[in-house]
Amino acid sequence: MPAKTVSPEERVAIGISFGNSYSSIACTVDGSPVVIANEDGDRQIPTALSYVDGEEYTGNQAKAFLVRNPKNTVISFKDFLGKEFKSIDPTHCHAAAHPEAAGESISFTVQDQAEGDASKLNVSEITTRYLRRLVQSASDYLGKTVNSAVISVPTNFSEKQREALIKAANDADIEVLQLINEPVSSVLAYDARPEAEVKDKIIVVADLGGSRSDVAVVASRGGLYTILATVHDYEFHGLALDKVLMDHFAKEFMKKNKDVDPREDSKGLAKLKAESESTKKALSIGTNASFSVESLAEGIDFQATINRLRYETIARKVFEGITRLVEGAIKKAELDVLDIDEIILSGGTSHTPRIANNFRAIFPESTAIQAPSTNPNALNPSELQSRGAALQASLIQEYESEDIEQSTHPAVGTVKHITNAIGVVSIVNGEETFVPIIAPETAVPARRTIHIAAPKEGGDVLVKVVEGNTHIKVTKPEPTPKENGKKDEDDEDEDDSDFDSEDDEPEEHREKVWKIGATLAEGAIKGIKKGGNVEVTITVAGDLGVTVTTREVGGKGGIRGTVKA
Ligand code: ATP
Ligand code: MG
Repeated sequence: MPAKTVSPEERVAIGISFGNSYSSIACTVDGSPVVIANEDGDRQIPTALSYVDGEEYTGNQAKAFLVRNPKNTVISFKDFLGKEFKSIDPTHCHAAAHPEAAGESISFTVQDQAEGDASKLNVSEITTRYLRRLVQSASDYLGKTVNSAVISVPTNFSEKQREALIKAANDADIEVLQLINEPVSSVLAYDARPEAEVKDKIIVVADLGGSRSDVAVVASRGGLYTILATVHDYEFHGLALDKVLMDHFAKEFMKKNKDVDPREDSKGLAKLKAESESTKKALSIGTNASFSVESLAEGIDFQATINRLRYETIARKVFEGITRLVEGAIKKAELDVLDIDEIILSGGTSHTPRIANNFRAIFPESTAIQAPSTNPNALNPSELQSRGAALQASLIQEYESEDIEQSTHPAVGTVKHITNAIGVVSIVNGEETFVPIIAPETAVPARRTIHIAAPKEGGDVLVKVVEGNTHIKVTKPEPTPKENGKKDEDDEDEDDSDFDSEDDEPEEHREKVWKIGATLAEGAIKGIKKGGNVEVTITVAGDLGVTVTTREVGGKGGIRGTVKA
């Protein structure tokens, strides 16, 4: 069946971020993205559906039913789209409706009618019902029926999953204008700000969600985004942080209540989980948070508090795991932390101050870290994907569906790009140095021009076009003996809360330096007049062939040379 399309005049389009844990919807008003609250006033809408007496609940209302009605509450289903039962991890559905094998697909059995038998609902049907509710909230807000959307998806969403999502959306009467890669939508959200200076840069997008963490290294060159490397992880995420707090408070409870473990009772476990998530979120804002549950186990109420330092200590493994994911992605892209211009923290877990602060410690000063705790002007990490999707929707909604499909089909990421930089050799203080003209990882075709000043008195200019690559120069400072002659003593209190012990070691200095690589072209422009300039234009074709033209600015003629790909 062909996908649903809507003609441009009839389109009312929004951006949707559809996650396993939370979703978010956004539209644009005068070109600026606006994140829409649902009827409960929530902008982060839990991805959940619950049925009670034939009545359908969604968002936070549905999530709250995990305590009293877990069997008829469906959560954490998005990644199951387009998958077979044997290839999924059902862990996060443990205390909710269970996924079951349904042929090549997956289903949930829930009592969705007031009377009669329970229904076996395919994950596709669940998704359709959920998307319908999301879009209904957007239509209510806009006062007109939304019929079209750009939806963000993880970069490792398979072709089958993409098809399944499009079909589920179509069944909810929504045309899918485009599926946009999540990291690209987050970059768009930042780049579209009026104050943004869109320049060539390498960005790391760390999307830290509830049940997964995805890291992408993205090159932004001349307004084109190329994904250089991705890492996907299902171990270090928001739910792992909830688990740390659940275990902590369960143990506290057991200390006070003769070893009664609230985790052994399903209701107790559900309450423990919900309150742990709230406490965790409170710890992102305050340095202290309370935990309070009525009738946690055996009818006993429980109240406790926790401070941020304690939380950071008990959750240290998860935080360190997240840092390693980012380091791994940079390594996979064959880059160094010094190559990264910006790191965008996206996803709900990115509100956590410790996570951003840990990045601050491993990246150089020059790397901008876009997170609420490191930059007061950072955007809300939970809203980046829906904002980016809404911006993309506003950009493409005026085109016919076929044209959109043709122009967006070669997914971002398959674009060819150069590996090394291309530039010229300049003699500075008698030493050859590399001056980059086209940055590494630039998507092709690409063209850049620079002007080189001729010697003051005019004359000949030799232009040597070369490839350049960076390497990291490490200089270790001489160990400085302490004034009293004593050697640096080891930090005695190897307390868990001490994150900065490395600061005591003499820090090595690491800097990025250019190395001159293969020569691509060489030529001399003769007899340049006094104060003249030489213009060098480098063009890299789609097949990676390089053409260099040099000429005197304002002069006639010039030289042109081509190097085959
Ligand atoms: P996934 O698909 O990985 O399950 P998602 O993309 O649906 O997740 P996000 O909204 O990006 O969901 O992230 C949800 C996670 O972020 C949850 O674990 C939630 O508890 C956590 N979270 C939300 N807000 C905060 C906050 N202020 N501080 C800390 N964690 C938060
Ligand atoms: Mg997500």
